[in-house]
Amino acid sequence: VKEDGRNSYRFFTPEMQAHTSRALALGNALKQALPRGELHLVYQPQVSLLDGRVVGAEALLRWNHPQWGVVSPAEFIPLAEANGLIVPIGEWVLHTALRQLRAWLDGGLPMMTMAVNLSAVQFGQAGLTDMVSQLLRQTGVPPEALELELTEAVAMKTPEVAAQKMQELSQRGIRLSIDDFGTGYSSLSYLKRFNINQLKIDQSFVRDIGTDTDDQAIATAIVQMAHSLGMTTIAEGVETAEQLDFLRARGCDQVQGYHYSRPLLPEHFEAFVRANLQA
Ligand code: C2E
Ligand code: CA
Ligand code: CA
Ligand code: CA
Repeated sequence: VKEDGRNSYRFFTPEMQAHTSRALALGNALKQALPRGELHLVYQPQVSLLDGRVVGAEALLRWNHPQWGVVSPAEFIPLAEANGLIVPIGEWVLHTALRQLRAWLDGGLPMMTMAVNLSAVQFGQAGLTDMVSQLLRQTGVPPEALELELTEAVAMKTPEVAAQKMQELSQRGIRLSIDDFGTGYSSLSYLKRFNINQLKIDQSFVRDIGTDTDDQAIATAIVQMAHSLGMTTIAEGVETAEQLDFLRARGCDQVQGYHYSRPLLPEHFEAFVRANLQA
């Protein structure tokens, strides 16, 4: 039993204990993940609803641990944020994703955007803009081909600092997308000032589009608002033709989800794009 200081008690159950020691063990093992080559990226196609073409990829991190097997980023990213490892790991993700895009372009794939997730901790680092610019120069990827995905929480935590940083990134030509849009607490008035290019409709609104009229209304409203503020939209978690048809009818610009493809290893992504070009 542990006192939490507000005249109440919290009980640590065996499940919570197990959870805590797993988190500790994972957090520790994560320190070796990068040097031991246990991390890799998979890429999920982003498809235009105008013509069905692959117009981008989202890089998603995978950790394959020798004992635990594949650990979900939903589990290890928060640990990496807590112990600061997200900074070197995040830089590795950016570098790897940009090198991959360079290799695809050199191999004859059409120009596309590479979307990379940026955590709040990374976003808060001094010198982020220079680090990103340096990697773009080093890999020879045009800044317009990089799309950084930030959550609303990142943008809204300290709006003044965030606005300044987003302006820096956007002045260099880098694209900005708000991830999980609609789930956080955003002040709509800031959206316009933030130099944001794209809103990413959260998959929680996409999932029940077929049956839930509230979700239909939310998805529709996000598309309309984005367009009237000069931004584009992408819906994530699109799994069915029904969801796809609804989003297309409402003017959503792009989709990403299992309906088209799961996140893929580089060689499979390349094959997917080549097949998409023939279709
Ligand atoms: P996210 O950025 O919202 O990514 C979307 C998640 O939905 C991914 O899970 C993706 O595999 C999954 N997904 C894609 N299409 C579908 C679909 O049709 N249906 C369903 N049910 N799911 C779909 P994943 O890869 O497990 O990543 C989970 C989260 O971990 C990401 O959510 C992101 O917040 C974080 N993450 C992943 N890679 C990175 C990274 O390199 N850096 C940072 N900071 N965070 C990352
Ligand atoms: Ca995109
Ligand atoms: Ca994302
Ligand atoms: Ca999401």
